[in-house]
Amino acid sequence: MQTTLSIIKPDAVSKNVIGKVIERFEDAGLKIVASKMIKLDKEIASGFYAEHEGKPFFEKLVNYMISGPVIVQVICGENAILKNRELMGNTDPSKADPGTIRADFADSIDANAVHGSDSEESAKREISYFFKDDELFLR
Ligand code: GDP
Ligand code: MG
Repeated sequence: MQTTLSIIKPDAVSKNVIGKVIERFEDAGLKIVASKMIKLDKEIASGFYAEHEGKPFFEKLVNYMISGPVIVQVICGENAILKNRELMGNTDPSKADPGTIRADFADSIDANAVHGSDSEESAKREISYFFKDDELFLR
């Protein structure tokens, strides 16, 4: 069993597709074990995306991530990290396979509906960035 961090980004929240995104996880056998709706501020969003600091899109990314509320979740299941990445699809929705979350719900590489941890190491860091151990309801 693996855990991974998922964020339903501001564009998907404002489009009212939170349920549809969560349904993708559940239909794939992944379980939500922690969940909250929050509005990130500049410091929290910058720290979360620290790996991208200095890249040309960094400021735009941070400003977008603080533009509205997000759903931060921990999802759990067999091979959850890779499974979630497959459900999400390519970072650029125009390149994402049909039927993936980004192909179906995202508008652009900037507003691309979801975040998902990309490795065990980043999942560990990202989960603890938003949740304390006792906030995970591992079943
Ligand atoms: P992800 O793991 O698929 O979300 O992609 P990355 O970790 O590489 O990048 C984080 C986020 O930054 C992406 O989801 C995009 O919203 C944004 N991003 C990444 N690469 C680019 C880029 O080349 N141009 C722009 N405008 N945004 C990007
Ligand atoms: Mg990433």
